[in-house]
Amino acid sequence: MPRSFVKEARKHVGPKKQRIGPIIERLAVEYPEATIALRFQDPLELLVSVMLSAQTTDVNVNRVTEKLFAKYHAPEDYLAVPVDELERDIFATGFYHQKAKALRGTMQMLIEDFDGQVPRRLEDLVRLPGVARKTANVVAAELGEPQGIVVDTHVRRLSQRLGLTRQEDPVKIERDLIRLVPRADWGRFPHLLIWHGRRVCDARRPRCEDCVINDLCPSSRV
Ligand code: SF4
Repeated sequence: MPRSFVKEARKHVGPKKQRIGPIIERLAVEYPEATIALRFQDPLELLVSVMLSAQTTDVNVNRVTEKLFAKYHAPEDYLAVPVDELERDIFATGFYHQKAKALRGTMQMLIEDFDGQVPRRLEDLVRLPGVARKTANVVAAELGEPQGIVVDTHVRRLSQRLGLTRQEDPVKIERDLIRLVPRADWGRFPHLLIWHGRRVCDARRPRCEDCVINDLCPSSRV
């Protein structure tokens, strides 16, 4: 059991199977507008945005992609320019060497193996160079076909605090959540936790007194 969990698991709030429904319902009422913050117009822009979002903020990515997507429209466009030009165009998102390499590898594979289209199956998405499971999960969910549950830093922290998992590893956390969260909610569940994590259940100072699920949370300090 992770230390943070031991320290925070204090209250008896009943089995997680009984709590998950009310947790989702209340957060959905609280955050009806909870969606992805990245801006995109089509599946390719979505994939590029999510790839660029590693190690930076969504606001930063949106700033970069506003210009990027006016210039690059199809997978071929990313291969038609010299690599240093692409690197310059994505420079402000950080790790631009790796990201440019991943983007070009991905575009090459889209053209060769997927007819220039972004695939929708998770097992195809994770084959793309530089596309890890989290990226693939985000893309699949935003395309309306979630095949797993996105686990980022907020989802991990809140799932642990809420006693939905005792794991530390994102893949194992996802496995626990998949067993627990109804399939129909796989897409919106991470957004709800991310929004709650940013607004109320802060990493350092959770505002339990203002939390709409504090009676369902074993880590509540109220
Ligand atoms: S803010 Fe809410 S979810 Fe987070 S620890 Fe406190 S009661 Fe639990």
